Amino acid sequence: MARVSLDHVTKTFQDDGEIVAVDDLSLDIRDGEFLVLVGPSGCGKSTTLRMIAGLEIPTRGEIQLGERTITNASPQQRDIAMVFQSYALYPHMSVRGNMSFGLREAGELPEDEIQSRVESTATMLGMADLLDRRPQELSGGQQQRVALGRAIVRDPQVFLLDEPLANLDAKLRAEMRTELQKLQDDLETTTIYVTHDQTEAMTMSDRIAILNDGQLQQVGTPLECYHEPNNLFVAGFLGEPSMNFYEGNVRDGSLVTDAFEYPLSDALASAVDGHREVVLGIRPEDIKIGEAEETDYDYSAVVDVVEPMGDENTVHLQFEGQSSDQSVMTATIDGMRSLTLGETTKTQLPPEAVHLFDAATGEALH
Ligand code: ATP
Repeated sequence: MARVSLDHVTKTFQDDGEIVAVDDLSLDIRDGEFLVLVGPSGCGKSTTLRMIAGLEIPTRGEIQLGERTITNASPQQRDIAMVFQSYALYPHMSVRGNMSFGLREAGELPEDEIQSRVESTATMLGMADLLDRRPQELSGGQQQRVALGRAIVRDPQVFLLDEPLANLDAKLRAEMRTELQKLQDDLETTTIYVTHDQTEAMTMSDRIAILNDGQLQQVGTPLECYHEPNNLFVAGFLGEPSMNFYEGNVRDGSLVTDAFEYPLSDALASAVDGHREVVLGIRPEDIKIGEAEETDYDYSAVVDVVEPMGDENTVHLQFEGQSSDQSVMTATIDGMRSLTLGETTKTQLPPEAVHLFDAATGEALH
């Protein structure tokens, strides 16, 4: 069983005071799962991965691999392979040398078995003809494959990948995303993948774990986290363009914000349940523009900016008669539809698409 389990793990560093890099993190990564750890820069993703790899020792808490506690075990004792953003290839060694080095050092396998693993892995990664080249004779994408190959030949219980695609250009990154997913499907090795790129998180993972300030915000499938965010942070972090937020007070069955007054449907009123200061969130793609149907959730807005994105347009609007920062709205519409700058249009915020959060704690109200 290659389940990885973090139990109340904290890591602090001393540097002009105490830095809490990871704060009481409990997380179970299932056997064979592809879990993506995502969050903004400095949220503790790499530190978490490095503790699982054995490159850092937790200040508090325990880490288990299957039934074994590995909290203080050395990296060599863990049967875990890590791929770094920088690839960390040995420049003076050929691809073959780079891929076989770890296995040879471990001294557990005969040379012919090592060579056979290197060759079959190189074939799987489409680089059988590159085995005699040196890293500097390879493209970025090829170097990335060597770094992956070096992890794969070890046939570890767990792969840890720290922003492995960050140094590739956009096209190659998209290709490698698909390749990595296929590879993980075939190998079925438990994989923990760190990125700050939410497209990678959303498209590659079985589940994502979202961190902020060293604390776990939510763990779930990408769609769960996207459609049912636990809190304001997750709601704002996932989605591009990001969710629109409006803070207001609940009065007489409506939410009164600086920009508009929103009548609370029965479902929303029961979610609010006594909370007075509430944030309303709505995703750009959930806002309806120019619908003929009349509802209680219709507002006039003026088109400020239209950004054509190809298959869809991002439209920035301002609630009519308003000018503050709190009265802007971003919507996405079909790329074939045209809207004119300065035009006044009807927008609709359907209650079934509205998210509510407690303004003080940021927690979602369900
Ligand atoms: P990024 O996406 O920028 O790589 P991250 O989410 O991986 O960020 P970490 O590298 O885990 O974040 O860092 C978490 C926090 O811990 C940051 O505030 C960082 O400055 C701090 N930190 C990490 N390593 C050390 C260290 N060795 N000494 C002191 N502080 C550290």
